[in-house]
Amino acid sequence: MPTPLLTPPPECLAILQTLRSHGHTAYLCGGCVRDALLGRPAKDYDIATAATPEQVEALFDKTIPVGKAFGVMIVVAGESHYEVATFRSDLAYIDGRRPEGVVFSSPEEDAARRDFPMNALFYDPFTDEVVDYVGGRDDIRRRLVRAVGDPAGRFREDNLRLLRAIRFAARTGFAIEDATWRAVVDLSALAATVSPERIAQETETMLLDGQSRQAFSLLHESGLLAVILPEVAAMAGVEQPPDFHPEGDVWEHTLILLGLADRAVRGDYRPASPDQPDVPAGMDRGEFSPDDYAAAVRDCRDALTPWQQTTLAWAGLLHDIGKPDTFSVSDRIRFNNHDLLGAEMAVTVLTRLHRSRRVVDGVYDLIRRHIHFSTLRKMRKSKLCRWLQDGSFPMHLELHRLDCESSHRMLANWFFGVQAWREEQARPPEPEPLLRGGELVALGLPPGPEIGKILAAVEDARLEGTVSTPDEALALARKLAGLDADRSTSG
Ligand code: ATP
Ligand code: MG
Repeated sequence: MPTPLLTPPPECLAILQTLRSHGHTAYLCGGCVRDALLGRPAKDYDIATAATPEQVEALFDKTIPVGKAFGVMIVVAGESHYEVATFRSDLAYIDGRRPEGVVFSSPEEDAARRDFPMNALFYDPFTDEVVDYVGGRDDIRRRLVRAVGDPAGRFREDNLRLLRAIRFAARTGFAIEDATWRAVVDLSALAATVSPERIAQETETMLLDGQSRQAFSLLHESGLLAVILPEVAAMAGVEQPPDFHPEGDVWEHTLILLGLADRAVRGDYRPASPDQPDVPAGMDRGEFSPDDYAAAVRDCRDALTPWQQTTLAWAGLLHDIGKPDTFSVSDRIRFNNHDLLGAEMAVTVLTRLHRSRRVVDGVYDLIRRHIHFSTLRKMRKSKLCRWLQDGSFPMHLELHRLDCESSHRMLANWFFGVQAWREEQARPPEPEPLLRGGELVALGLPPGPEIGKILAAVEDARLEGTVSTPDEALALARKLAGLDADRSTSG
C-alpha cells in the first residue's frame, strides 16, 4: 500500500472515527493538509465536521467550549487537545474583523469562507483522499498564494488576511497571485484596524519563521509596513556612509541582516558566501575557518532560550530605527546617538505591540549597546567579565555578527567576543567569595550601601587579578573603608 499523505496520531484518528460512526462527516483540515502537500511536518491536526458543538460535547468525555458560538470545540484526548470545528459559513463582517455570527453549513461552504485555497483543503485519512473545493492543490502545484473568491472583498471582510497573505507567501516561497497582490496593495491602509496583539503575533511569527527577509520585503513593497510599523518603514531610502555600509541604505542593510538571521534560524550556520546575491562583497575572515565559524554561531544560538530568540529577532529588525531621525552630514554621514534613540523607539514600538516586559527590556539593552560592542577589546577586565557572565551575552554576540556581516563584514570584535565568552565558560566555577559583608561589619563599618560598594570593588579587583587571597581582600577593604589610611600611603 502506498504511504498515506498524512498519518495523524492514533487519538486523533479515534476522534474522527467516533464522529464518523455517529453519522457525521469529519475530515482533517487547514494547515496540516497544506503542510503535508508541501512535504512539511504538521504543527497540529485540526478537525472539521458536520457535528454541531452540542453533538461534539455529547460524544466525548472531555471537551472545552473555546468558541462554541462559532462552532469551535476542543476535544481533550490524553495529553493532547484537538480543535474540532463545525462546518460553517460566516455571516456579514463587522469592523473588518469578525463576522456577526456563523451558520453551520457544508464542507463546501466551509472551504469558501477560508482565506487561501491552500488553507481550505480537507483530508480523509481513512481513504487517503484530499477533498478540494476551491483549487488548493492547483495553487500548491503552481506555487501561488491566492484569495478564495474575490480578493478585495475577502480582505475587506477581515483585514488580518492582508498580513496572513504575506506570512504564507514568505513561509512557502510562493508568489502572490496578481489580483490578490493588487488587492493587498490597494487595501494596505486597512491593516490599521488590526489589533496590536494580532499585528504583533503575525509579525513575530514572520520574524521567527526562517523567511523574515522575504516577509518584510513583501510587507514593505505592499505598503503594509508603513501602516503597521511606520518606524521600520522609515529606514527605506536613508543613505549610509559607503565605507562602512557598502550594501546600501538602512533598509537594505536591515533586509540583509534579516536574511542572515533566517539562515541561522533554519540551522545553517556556515558563513554566507561572498558571491551570494544577498550579501555584500566579502572580507577575509582570517582567524576562523568556515567550520570554526559555524561552530561559534551554533554555540551562540544553542545558548539562546526561546524568549531570547524572540528578543534577538526583534532587535535585528529594530536595531537601526534610530537612524532616520539622527541622520546628519559632517565629515561624512553620521547617525550620532542612534543607538540610544533607537533603543527608546524600540521600547515604544514593542510596548505598543504588547510584547512582554523581558522582551522589551532585552531589545532595549541589545540596541542601546550594539555600538559599544566594538569597544569590547578595550574594556576593563572586570567589566568585560561581568558582561561575559551575563546570560544575555550570546544575544549581543549574535546581533553584532549579523550587524557586521550585513555591512562592512569586519569580524575582529566578534572573534574576540566568541573566544572570551568560551574562555569564561570554561573557567572553573567561582570560588567562595574572598570577603563577606559580615566581616566588614565586624571591622566596625555600619551595615548599609557602603558595604555593598566595597564588596563590589573587591570583586572587581579579584576579576582584574590584583587580589586573590582573603587576606589581600581584607586589606583592600580596610583601605577602601579608610580604616588604615596611615599605612595605605606608606607603600
Ligand atoms: P499555521 O501553520 O500557521 O498554524 P494554519 O493554516 O493552521 O497555519 P491557523 O491560523 O492555525 O493557520 O488557522 C487554521 C485555518 O483556519 C487556516 O488554515 C484557514 O483555513 C482558516 N483561517 C484562519 N484564519 C483565517 C482568516 N482570518 N480568514 C479565513 N480563514 C482563516
Ligand atoms: Mg494552525
